[in-house]
Amino acid sequence: MKTPVLNVTLEPKSIKAATAKIKFRTQAFINGRYVNAASGKTYVSTNPATGQPLAKIAACEAADVDAAVKAARRAFDQGVWAKRSPTERKHVLLRFADLVEKNLGELALLDCLDAGKPITDCLTMDLPDSVHCFRWHAEAIDKEYEKVSPTGPGNVAMIVREPLGVVGAILPWNFPFQMAAWKLGPILATGNSVVLKPARQTALSVLRLAEIAAEAGIPDGVLNVVPGSGAVIGAALCRHPDVDAAAFTGSTEVGRQLLQYSAESNLKRIMLELGGKNPQVVFEDAGDVDYIARQALSSVFWNMGENCSSGSRLIVHRKFKDKLLSRMIELSREWVVGSPLDPATKIGPMIEESHMMKVLEYVESGKREGAKLVLGGKRTLLKTGGYFVEPTIFDGVKPAMKIAREEIFGPVLSVLTFDTEEEAIILANDTPYGLTASLYSENVSRAHRVARAIRAGTVSVNCFSEGDATTPFGGYKQSGFFGRDKSIFAHYQYTELKTIWMQLT
Ligand code: NAP
Repeated sequence: MKTPVLNVTLEPKSIKAATAKIKFRTQAFINGRYVNAASGKTYVSTNPATGQPLAKIAACEAADVDAAVKAARRAFDQGVWAKRSPTERKHVLLRFADLVEKNLGELALLDCLDAGKPITDCLTMDLPDSVHCFRWHAEAIDKEYEKVSPTGPGNVAMIVREPLGVVGAILPWNFPFQMAAWKLGPILATGNSVVLKPARQTALSVLRLAEIAAEAGIPDGVLNVVPGSGAVIGAALCRHPDVDAAAFTGSTEVGRQLLQYSAESNLKRIMLELGGKNPQVVFEDAGDVDYIARQALSSVFWNMGENCSSGSRLIVHRKFKDKLLSRMIELSREWVVGSPLDPATKIGPMIEESHMMKVLEYVESGKREGAKLVLGGKRTLLKTGGYFVEPTIFDGVKPAMKIAREEIFGPVLSVLTFDTEEEAIILANDTPYGLTASLYSENVSRAHRVARAIRAGTVSVNCFSEGDATTPFGGYKQSGFFGRDKSIFAHYQYTELKTIWMQLT
């Protein structure tokens, strides 16, 4: 299967031309073919920047999930992927990464149209990072050795890792292609078959990915994509008796349900990457105000704040607060809200109307509870029909307020203050979540002490960063369960550990 390449650069002309030409894959991808949902039903996905319909997508149901799981199981049992040599799997995945790179412009544009993500971010971050992610996991395949345990001379005991079998992967809408890459890289590298369920709002780039994977040589049935409602097919996938594991990125509430599905079905392994209410802790000895202001704004407003690692709580020393906050308000002008197709845009729309309303309701609750609104707070660009919200900052936030406790998943920052290091740590940890945290201090001993004291899966010192492909990403507390994306640790979680105990004669 060969697919034509659609060139997209950061030139407005190129974006316009590509948008006029782009085609959507809207059917499910099962056993190497695009197919309609068995029921023939479709649903309409909306462009969040205009509120207009974008595509009619196959609305899969339990029967389609079952067909995809059967195809995945057959491929796994036949060993067309799982039993290929690690080096062969590496070559296919490297070819896949090359083809994703070749089609990077088209895939970036699909995420931009479908999720309302700024085209500049899609072209320069999400897609290049995804290519790198596939390459990294591919390259790691034939670099890992297995183990021989230190038994006595009468035995040999090998400890080997084997693929889990059929993995269901359920994705969120905020990084549609990149989250697929974070899951697929290690799942495929370790020899599993997979059934992917993209978020209902953002299936387009993941459906196109399936065709590119087939072109790269990933055998039929190894990678299947079923779009549709999570409550219907996500649940069917996680309850399916022939699915060995489910890897999920999404909200803590739905993650909780997955554990129940597993308990009620076959005790499949469940890996959860969930929400966050992440602190950015700024000490009085933090240093350059301008640098910290820029980092803090990126941390909370990047990807419209629709980011699990959004630094939505700024916990700042009382003596540093006024200068930091006034610089942040000045610099917030750079956070241009606009059409995601415009390369100058830094904040696109919220994913859908109901989500925008939820974000605006949080703004109202902040006002009601007595926080001081110092920036934004309103819906904007109404004429476009899109779901845009201004970047918003509340000062004077108290730890008990809703805006300090709940994940808003929008461009809303809550500013809290402290006087002592001890108080800062208590505030940082005062959340049921524990995904990421940033801290700013020029005192290396303090930075080390506080990084250890914060209960989060990633703590960045003097920056806002989730690390790179080599570092595991996942959460403490209610931000995760048994799961880490990225790095060699992700390979381990998609494998079973087997002991082969041999008696020597
Ligand atoms: P969500 O509502 O939990 O949905 C996530 C996925 O689960 C979607 O594909 C959804 O399908 C599906 N789903 C819904 N109900 C289901 C059910 N009963 N059984 C099985 N699957 C079901 O989350 P979201 O709104 O897409 O994403 C935002 C959340 O993801 C935030 O909390 C964010 O923090 C978190 N997130 C975490 C990370 C991380 O790495 N820790 C990364 C990104 C996002 P539908 O599309 O049909 O709803």
